[in-house]
Amino acid sequence: MRVLVTGGAGFLGSHLCDALLSEGHSVVAVDNLITGRTINLDHLSREPRFEFREADICHEFDCGKVDYVFHFACPASPVDYMVHGIATLKVGSAGTFNALEVAKRYGAKFFLASTSECYGDPTVHPQPETYWGNVNPVGPRSVYDEAKRFSEAVTSAYRRYHNVDTRIVRIFNTYGPRMQINDGRVIPNFMKQALTGEDLTVYGDGSQTRSFCYVSDEIAGILKLAWSDEHKPTNIGNPGEFTILECAKRVIEVTGSKSKIRFEPLPQDDPKQRRPDITKAKTLLGWEPKIDLMTGLRLSLDYFRETVQKTAAVTG
Ligand code: UDP
Repeated sequence: MRVLVTGGAGFLGSHLCDALLSEGHSVVAVDNLITGRTINLDHLSREPRFEFREADICHEFDCGKVDYVFHFACPASPVDYMVHGIATLKVGSAGTFNALEVAKRYGAKFFLASTSECYGDPTVHPQPETYWGNVNPVGPRSVYDEAKRFSEAVTSAYRRYHNVDTRIVRIFNTYGPRMQINDGRVIPNFMKQALTGEDLTVYGDGSQTRSFCYVSDEIAGILKLAWSDEHKPTNIGNPGEFTILECAKRVIEVTGSKSKIRFEPLPQDDPKQRRPDITKAKTLLGWEPKIDLMTGLRLSLDYFRETVQKTAAVTG
């Protein structure tokens, strides 16, 4: 297959490109590089089945005939999407329309990277796909949450009105190599702080929970969904749930750091709890994650250590 990956220079997008190439497909990656980075794709520069195009998918685009469109373009960390709030809303609306138009034009399948943020600050726990969520439509996170909810609506409409063969994954917190060290997300923040001996900044009292999925598990689940016939939203994430305070302690343990923990104010509308109900992915796709948090942190350690050292060398 010839496959298009929007957001192909991002954390998940670039891992997806690798996985698709290793399955034997040709991949064209498109990215406007506002949060994506070409360094994530440097290792593919001699790969004849891979092509990178720098472009903003908020404008109409055409990369020639493709058989599958994976729409992964979007700032995804709370810090990034709040800095790039308007761009986030645009890529979730105009960008999603344009990506779906490519799929419609070529009769290609379409895969939307959606998010657990669709559930907002959930009142149902763990979150099954049937839960409609609890999102503040005008709060600071709404630029991302509503853009993704809108993306799900447009994707569902193209299926209904234009017969585009669509899939929707709801991705829960994912981590691993190629995350940006400065994107503000909790694992890169804690790793960087632990490796440089700074205090780990726990927001609020640290009792809010998240469930962290290692990137290889996430990509395996995404591909299983992509090759399945399921078109309704499907959660892919790791149900192992940790408070953020526990997470900080695990990072200190894995890095062997002497860093302390410092408490800072909780950002507005920060979800109090999050854990995927993955019954559907298990029964329908035969998928479940294999890598627990401690193992995943150990697998990520070399990457974060090297990135911290490189950043220190650059900033002197
Ligand atoms: N968080 C924290 N310290 C940090 C960064 C994040 O305590 O340095 C918390 C944040 O408030 C949230 C959780 O960690 O409760 C996960 O934050 P992240 O930005 O990784 O993603 P989210 O799940 O909120 O989208």
